[in-house]
Amino acid sequence: MLDLTNERTAWDRDHFFHPSTHMGTHARGETPTRVMAGGEGVRIRDVTGKESIDAFAGLYCVNVGYGRHKIADAIAAQAKDLAYYHAYVGHGTDASIRLAKMIIDRAPQGMSRVYFGLSGSDANETNIKLIWYYNNILGRPEKKKIISRWRGYHGSGVMTGSLTGLHFFHNAFDLPRAPILHTEAPYYFRREDRSMSEDQFSQLCADRLEELILAEGQDTVAAFIGEPILGTGGIVPPPSGYWQKIQAVLKKYDVLLVADEVVTGFGRLGTMFGCDHYAIKPDLITIAKGLTSAYAPLSGVIVSDRVWQILIQGSDQLGAIGHGWTYSAHPICAAAGVANLELIDEMQLVNNAGSVGAYFRESLASAVGGHKHVGDVRGDGMLAAVEFVEDKDDRTFFDPSNKIGPQVAAALLERGVIGRAMPQGDILGFAPPLCLSREEADIVVAATVEAVKAVLG
Ligand code: PMP
Repeated sequence: MLDLTNERTAWDRDHFFHPSTHMGTHARGETPTRVMAGGEGVRIRDVTGKESIDAFAGLYCVNVGYGRHKIADAIAAQAKDLAYYHAYVGHGTDASIRLAKMIIDRAPQGMSRVYFGLSGSDANETNIKLIWYYNNILGRPEKKKIISRWRGYHGSGVMTGSLTGLHFFHNAFDLPRAPILHTEAPYYFRREDRSMSEDQFSQLCADRLEELILAEGQDTVAAFIGEPILGTGGIVPPPSGYWQKIQAVLKKYDVLLVADEVVTGFGRLGTMFGCDHYAIKPDLITIAKGLTSAYAPLSGVIVSDRVWQILIQGSDQLGAIGHGWTYSAHPICAAAGVANLELIDEMQLVNNAGSVGAYFRESLASAVGGHKHVGDVRGDGMLAAVEFVEDKDDRTFFDPSNKIGPQVAAALLERGVIGRAMPQGDILGFAPPLCLSREEADIVVAATVEAVKAVLG
């Protein structure tokens, strides 16, 4: 096991290119290296023995919590039986076939097939390709543009990083690329006209989407992608009426809807899918994270029957689909997925996410909502966020150079709780494992009160 000897720290600084990390400060040793070693339930510990409650479930993915032997045993058994075979040309394993069936059984109505990948990003790449393929089959070669939202998060690849609507992921990478467009974020707290009701703001979002489709030409717009609730963009639930109004526009112009459920899939909002929670009827659904609770990397695109019927029709013109990953439906990952979905049912985690999630958010709102620098406490299910403002009445924000969000997250960590400073704005995010108990929620809330006080008085 790694320890924190000077030598190991030097190996890390000199050889490990970390994702989403400041290269210079890390390589110079100005920021700490934390070497994680183990965990049980919502708790995780590093090699020094320091324990934290992980109130962000890794990157909102360890939904069943750490240290679940049922999943570890399933992985080990699959590795011993057959660690790998591909899924090309009609191959499968018992685990991958079983998992496809379990996913469709749990998916919103009208879903038909699952295409497996390894990450949320590659699943959204699959979505883009399927959308283009679909319109080529239909003889609509111009209908290729995809509309995403500012503050949406859909991955880090070239095309999926373009779908992502956060400047942090575009800057200096020459993104976004055509043919990706962005429309209004459904961010009620940050609306320009503060006199607007939630419904009026939802209407404005729908109107902006319609204007964009008309300006581009409806024959050129293929799809719209959105997370049921904005995640990395700030944990922002949709304003009332939002999805209903957006779906009406998409229907009018024959634009496909992709629901990116990488964060919300498999229980996070207290329903199996976010689409069930907000009455969304998608054509394609992206899944990852909660599918295996990150015990092994696995993602997927769930294809609706409506889209599947066109794709299968195309197969008679086009032959085998020229899209595949070596590790699609990897048996070890699929075995992890089967055990994970069984565990979610056995532990009744979808219900727990709904009930303890509501308790957690209400406790958080009553504990910090009155603070003069807390502008908004929001969330849904087992997702919550606290947004800090310089002035509550004027709703003015701190200069980003003050790094209020990261400072509060650091103060929280000192008090034994991991939250996440969201990348754009002073927003402290929470996405605990779905097994969080009320007692653990109380500890997270108490630590948050202290952290806010330590940074903002
Ligand atoms: N979609 C959403 C909604 C996500 O939150 C993420 C990851 N945070 C992704 C896609 C990309 O997933 P990955 O990091 O596994 O590529």
